[in-house]
Amino acid sequence: MTARIIDGKALAKKLRESYKQRVSRLAENNVTPGLAVILVGENPASQVYVRNKIKACEECGVLSREHVLPADVSQTEVLALISRLNEDPTIHGILVQLPLPAHIDNRAVLEAISVHKDVDGFHLYNVGGLVVGNTVFPPCTPYGVQLLLETTGIDVAGKNACVIGASNIVGKPMALMLLQKEATVTICHIKTQELAQHTIIADILVVAAGKPNLIVPQMVKTGAVVIDVGINRLPDGRVVGDVDFEGVREKASWITPVPGGVGPMTVTMLIENTLRSAEMFQGKGEGINSFE
Ligand code: NAD
Repeated sequence: MTARIIDGKALAKKLRESYKQRVSRLAENNVTPGLAVILVGENPASQVYVRNKIKACEECGVLSREHVLPADVSQTEVLALISRLNEDPTIHGILVQLPLPAHIDNRAVLEAISVHKDVDGFHLYNVGGLVVGNTVFPPCTPYGVQLLLETTGIDVAGKNACVIGASNIVGKPMALMLLQKEATVTICHIKTQELAQHTIIADILVVAAGKPNLIVPQMVKTGAVVIDVGINRLPDGRVVGDVDFEGVREKASWITPVPGGVGPMTVTMLIENTLRSAEMFQGKGEGINSFE
């Protein structure tokens, strides 16, 4: 069996095209969707991510405003900026690029973002919403994976799903989303023993560990759907995921490539959440009562 490719780049492109219509509809009501991006320090990877997000905003007609703060900025100053953005009616989404410098308390910063503008979905309100199956802003990476899974036409209900990685931004929310769709979910992490025993029974395998070649064909059930979230830069400059793509594609039914799989969807879901926030702001989007 050779797996069919789940083309994240193509799906992201299609979605971004469709967003132009939503932006036009908002414009009819004099609303321009606005995203504020806060970058603290000069982490090169963060700079690239922020640049990609801003580029995606431009492409879709979303206004973006970048706030670059020095690495030694105080937590008080970051919180003051968030407070101003919370009150700014031209801003519908606020994103704080992680990681933050060690002297800043991540949680305090994420909790300061208005739940109405939490387009990354990291505020405890949205995390709680995810737990009870009623989130307004699903976190972007697992949200993107969910849409990629939908394109396969495979119903995840009743399937064995295995998520490798238990981070707050990918693994845990991913597992909750799959559970919400009635999959039987196993979460594996660095302390999991005999990883292969869990992966081999998975009909749906989502890998988000950040370890190249963690998943090899012997660990994959024949016909499984394999989603590779990992992004790893090898010493030779190549970017690969966590899955041995060439090997596993001979065993899986569907597989995402890296690059061109989950990555483009993550940024796209950020735009989706920002548009949804702007639509709620103008009082016409779904979930307007969710915050009451
Ligand atoms: P993280 O470091 O916060 O978490 C990694 C998780 O993987 C942890 O729970 C850890 O216990 C687990 N893990 C690590 N090694 C393991 C092993 N050998 N066996 C089993 N579990 C193991 O990372 P993260 O932020 O969740 O990101 C994970 C990967 O996904 C990274 O490569 C990151 O670059 C990538 N990522 C990609 C996107 C995207 O848009 N494609 C978005 C976010 C993260």
